[in-house]
Amino acid sequence: MSDNATAAVGRRPLAALAEGRGKPAAIALLAAVAVLYPVAFPNQANVDSLANAAIYAALALGLNIVVGFTGLLDLGYAAFFAIGAYAYGILNSFQLHPAWGPFWVPLQHLGLVMPFPGNSGGTVVHFTLSFWIALPLAAVISAGCGMAFGAPTLRLRGDYLAIVTLGFGEIVPIVFRNWSSLTNGAAGLNGVGAPVLLGHSFGVNAIPYYYVAIALVAFLIFASLRLRDSRIGRAWMAIREDEIAAGAMGVNRTRFKLLAFATGAAFAGATGVVFIAKLQTATPDMFDFPVSVMILVMIVFGGIGSVWGAVAGAMILQLLQSWWLPDLSGLVDGLGRLLGSRWLASVDLTQSTELIFGIILVVMMLYRRQGLIPAHRPQAALSFEAQHAVVQRGFGELRLSGLAGDVAAGTPALQVRGVTVAFGGLKALDAVSIDVPSGGVVAVIGPNGSGKSTLFNVITGLVPANGGSIRFRGEEILGLHDHQILARGIARTFQNIRLFPTLTVLQNVLVGQHARLSTSLFGAVFRPPRTRREEQAALDWAREVIAIFGNRLAPRLGQAVGGLSYANRRRTEIARALASRPKLLLLDEPTAGMNPAETLELAEQIRGLKSLGLTVLLIEHKLDVVTQLADTVYVLDHGEIIAHGTPAEVRRNEDVLRAYLGRNAQAAAAGIAGGGDAT
Ligand code: ADP
Ligand code: MG
Repeated sequence: MSDNATAAVGRRPLAALAEGRGKPAAIALLAAVAVLYPVAFPNQANVDSLANAAIYAALALGLNIVVGFTGLLDLGYAAFFAIGAYAYGILNSFQLHPAWGPFWVPLQHLGLVMPFPGNSGGTVVHFTLSFWIALPLAAVISAGCGMAFGAPTLRLRGDYLAIVTLGFGEIVPIVFRNWSSLTNGAAGLNGVGAPVLLGHSFGVNAIPYYYVAIALVAFLIFASLRLRDSRIGRAWMAIREDEIAAGAMGVNRTRFKLLAFATGAAFAGATGVVFIAKLQTATPDMFDFPVSVMILVMIVFGGIGSVWGAVAGAMILQLLQSWWLPDLSGLVDGLGRLLGSRWLASVDLTQSTELIFGIILVVMMLYRRQGLIPAHRPQAALSFEAQHAVVQRGFGELRLSGLAGDVAAGTPALQVRGVTVAFGGLKALDAVSIDVPSGGVVAVIGPNGSGKSTLFNVITGLVPANGGSIRFRGEEILGLHDHQILARGIARTFQNIRLFPTLTVLQNVLVGQHARLSTSLFGAVFRPPRTRREEQAALDWAREVIAIFGNRLAPRLGQAVGGLSYANRRRTEIARALASRPKLLLLDEPTAGMNPAETLELAEQIRGLKSLGLTVLLIEHKLDVVTQLADTVYVLDHGEIIAHGTPAEVRRNEDVLRAYLGRNAQAAAAGIAGGGDAT
């Protein structure tokens, strides 16, 4: 999942070392086999099949970014493959032949066009764009189309997005089929130029194409792995796991979905160039809907979200079609002749690849849903020593940058004025005003359904307000997007814990830093020193924040949070919020579901944060926690603030008692300590 250093945390160092040593060796062996294969077996047909398999592996890697990493179901992926293919096909063939003129001369010097004698006399232009320029160019063109298509549609979710992409995948081949002047229609482009390297044309020899295809796959594997373990990949996976939490942690969802779409499209566009150059022709039916489905089947078979899985799935299914099925067909036919069965003797398995793919898919879903090479490794249980290791609490070293110091304690951090939120006829908040002073801890209490969580949602931009104003450090934040609000320094947790379940504790906390990091796509892939430093600092900071909870989380950095205990998931969520270096922390019932000892421990830790200068707004049912922590308490009832003051004042307030008594006499008797509600 993550780099070896992170995976190694909490495991025996020896085992991690062995893992780290084994991987490069396996990759080197794989590369050696790939490079030497055509030397050892220079059979054109076999090498050609392998080149095709590599081309599908490249396509699968691109789709894996969209579907596997980001969780956007794309059923029209082959359209981007087509766009890249046709871009090269049109710019290196005789398809377009405008009349020659002085305009073309500079382009001739660049080697992009040549004068050519036309059919009806006169000279025409022959496009001769180099294959090597076409590779990146087609990637850019396809990425551009991906952006143009994605911008209006990526707001759609799940099924709707799938249907729109399906439509797009249908439209592109239809356009190519009918725009004859540009594409020669159904008959397809002819005479697409072969690549030329150092003066030698690839011609129709399969071997050089094979090397180009595996070089492309190697680069795309490298890029995929680098992206996965970067700020970008983490943002993609966060979107896949929980869009709302991703937004609340500062991920600009629209932008990162578009980026995933464009990156996947770029992979497909470049691959299209290799595919067409090898065939030297392009017809629209090479890019029809079944191709998109086949690529999807390949990544499902290999393991959704798994880079090596996508490659293995694509190679195996493609070779199944071109190598093993014909052999198997021959075997079945021979058996048929032996048994005298005419039906068996005439079976042609290569005609039923779709049926066979379907069967494979069903079997995989039944018995191995995670695919051949799963994206997530099962976790070893913690050893006794790891669970009981003494970890220094990190308060001493923790410097929540900018928390203390830049604003005098006591000046207002957050001012909510007359905020109203209505859901249809229901006023969840009715002209609510609260003040949170810098460096203070303010608690919000109230019966279930009184609007406490809605107050957090409106402050963090999750629900729109119908009126009012929210100022944070003097700036109006009402109307900003959730990720913009996080960037300004407000981080939150959710009442019903919203973590990224298949990501590890460390990855979750790293996502929390998203807004504080700046690694770009380029930086993620090529990791210049700046990116390395940034990533190292992010790791250090994550570990520091996690150390606040002593040895609760520290030994579990490499574990997926989905498998943690309830209390540890709450702690991880708080750590993730703190990782964003907030100035104001919103905690929605942080101790819900914790036992008394854990509650006490957490209250202690929150007090520690306060002493560091962090401002906290807290929703809490347990009154002893409120009394211990809060300077000021606001009481919400039916969406209105019915009282506020110190904990002692509020507890004596008659309106408050009535609000609780009216709804829940027992809770009032127990000191306004209601049970946990669910939002
Ligand atoms: P609390 O956190 O105090 O228990 P909430 O803020 O979750 O209360 O809910 C306040 C009221 O608003 C409830 O009646 C709830 O049903 C309603 N509500 C909350 N969110 C929504 C929503 N997204 N759509 C419709 N009604 C909502
Ligand atoms: Mg609530």
